[in-house]
Amino acid sequence: MLKVNKGKEPNCVLEYKKKYSPKSWNDYNKDNIRTNIKENILVIEQEEYCPYCEKRIYDINDGHIEHIKPRDRYPKEFQNYDNLLVSCNQKNSCGIYKKNKYNDKFINPVIDNPEQYFNYNIANGEIIPRNNDESSNEHMRATYTIDALNLNCYELKEARKALIDILEVYRENYVEYNEYLQFFIDDGHNFPSLIKTYMQL
Ligand SMILES: [Zn+2]
Repeated sequence: MLKVNKGKEPNCVLEYKKKYSPKSWNDYNKDNIRTNIKENILVIEQEEYCPYCEKRIYDINDGHIEHIKPRDRYPKEFQNYDNLLVSCNQKNSCGIYKKNKYNDKFINPVIDNPEQYFNYNIANGEIIPRNNDESSNEHMRATYTIDALNLNCYELKEARKALIDILEVYRENYVEYNEYLQFFIDDGHNFPSLIKTYMQL
């Protein structure tokens, strides 16, 4: 999971609120407002990554607006710009899988620092809690969030494992492998947190 540094609410949203006084999220349906919100969040705040699975979203149509606190359960949050992310459209993970799941254990990439909570099992590509103590708050929150987003679904695990196999080749063959790994990150490769973890091995 990637930290999302939310910026100020964009002017297009402020103007839209002034013009239409939306009463619910369903009223955000004119002037291309959803596409504008999506573009601002995805390109500027998330640098074209899905914050949940860390895969790149190259095309704006391959992502959707995700309400961290689900809008069906927290209808008053619809005006809260900090509650909005853009998730990828993978059916089996992230925003689509999460649906209405949410409680205060959920690691919120806008508020929390995901790096503190997650680590990787480089033998199989699984994302795991950083804190091994099962009774710790950090462990419980990480487990809840991994399950809520299905971050260890087959597709994601296999994709991470494939990247690990490549990183392993670099590690075995190059002394300066950290520099190569930095290229992967600078290039906007999928799974930057996994690559950073590898750089610390
Ligand atoms: Zn995703």
